[in-house]
Amino acid sequence: MPESHDIQRGDLVAVVRGHECIVNSVGGIPFTVRQVETLAVPGVFLVCQQCRYAERAAGVRYVCDEHGNYLPLSWLMKFPPVEEPGTVEDEKTLAV
Ligand SMILES: [Zn+2]
Repeated sequence: MPESHDIQRGDLVAVVRGHECIVNSVGGIPFTVRQVETLAVPGVFLVCQQCRYAERAAGVRYVCDEHGNYLPLSWLMKFPPVEEPGTVEDEKTLAV
C-alpha cells in the first residue's frame, strides 16, 4: 500500500506531523510540491532552526516547497485533488 506516499510534484499538501517546532510554524499551511527527491548523501541532517534538533536526512524522501524548504514526505498530508476548479463563488463588487 503506497498510503500517502504517492505525493508528487504539483500536489497540494500540508505538514500534519513531525518535529514539533516545524509543525508549530508551518503545520496545516497548504503548499504546492515543487519537487520530490531522496537525499542520498550520507551525513546530511535536517536541522530545526529553532531548537537545533537534527535528524538524519539520508535515504528519506523529501518534498521541496516553493521557498526551497525540504520537508520529509512522511510528515505530510495530501489534499484531495480539486475536481471542479470553477466553483469558487464570485464576490459581487458594489459600484460606488
Ligand atoms: Zn525544534
